Amino acid sequence: MALRKITEYPAKVLNEVGDPVEVFDEELARLCEDMFETMYAEEGVGLAAPQIGLSLRLFVMDCAGIKLVAANPEIVAAEGEQGGEEGCLSVGKIHSPLKRAERATLRAQDVRGEWYEREAAGLAARCFQHETDHCDGLLFINRLTPLKRNMVTKRFQKLKKWE
Ligand SMILES: [Zn+2]
Repeated sequence: MALRKITEYPAKVLNEVGDPVEVFDEELARLCEDMFETMYAEEGVGLAAPQIGLSLRLFVMDCAGIKLVAANPEIVAAEGEQGGEEGCLSVGKIHSPLKRAERATLRAQDVRGEWYEREAAGLAARCFQHETDHCDGLLFINRLTPLKRNMVTKRFQKLKKWE
């Protein structure tokens, strides 16, 4: 296993629609292990392939008791609304309030290519939505109002200067 470097805003790969995962082999399994290891090292609850520079529709998560690999993910149902803050390892973990669906159903393939559906509420549902967005080339800041997005990116740029 190996730690991967986190790709940060404004890297182009973060705003590209990922390629579908087509081969479910040892290499993919190793990539997923690396992604879990990197996510835990960064104290994240989810990590998508574009966040380590790979334009692929793939994410891993371990959030609110739900641990999974999601290849070719899709949100097939969503209902309700939740408030709360959202942040991202690719944007320096700076948080901002963002409304999301309270419940969401994820449809994806596991590391062996088996399709599954998983329903979640609250934080895990937020994670489904956030990580699936990554696979579609969307960062959470792309869903903020221009004013809030500016606040987050300015704070992030300041953070980078101090590093
Ligand atoms: Zn993220």
